[in-house]
Amino acid sequence: MEKTFSIIKPDGVRRNLIGQVLAKIEQAGLRITATKLVHMTKEQAEKFYEIHAKRPFYQELCEYMISGPVLVSVLEGPNAVAVYRDIMGATNPAQAEKGTIRAEFALSIGENTVHGSDSSENAKIEISHFFSEIEMVNSLTKISH
Ligand code: GDP
Repeated sequence: MEKTFSIIKPDGVRRNLIGQVLAKIEQAGLRITATKLVHMTKEQAEKFYEIHAKRPFYQELCEYMISGPVLVSVLEGPNAVAVYRDIMGATNPAQAEKGTIRAEFALSIGENTVHGSDSSENAKIEISHFFSEIEMVNSLTKISH
């Protein structure tokens, strides 16, 4: 069983897409084991995206991520990192495969509706930015369908 970290970005929350995005996550067999709405400060966004600090779009990305509330979630399932990356689709929605979250909902390469961890190690780090142990349910995957 693997965990990954998801964000429904400000464009998704603003356009009332939380339910539709979470439905796709659940339909892919992933379980939501923690979730909440947060409105990040500039400092929190900069720390979260520290890895992109040298990229030209870093400031634009951080400004966008604090432009409204986001839904942060922990997802769990077999190969959760890869499964979620798959259903998210390519970073640029113009290149995202049909049926993926970004193909259906993203507005642009920046306002692309969702974030998902790119590795299990990064998922652990990203989860720890937003959730404490007590906020995570660990037994949901044992519930039968
Ligand atoms: P991801 O793993 O598919 O989210 O893509 P990256 O890790 O490469 O980039 C992180 C996030 O930065 C993306 O999801 C976009 O929101 C944003 N981003 C990436 N490339 C660009 C770009 O060329 N311009 C802008 N404005 N944002 C970008």
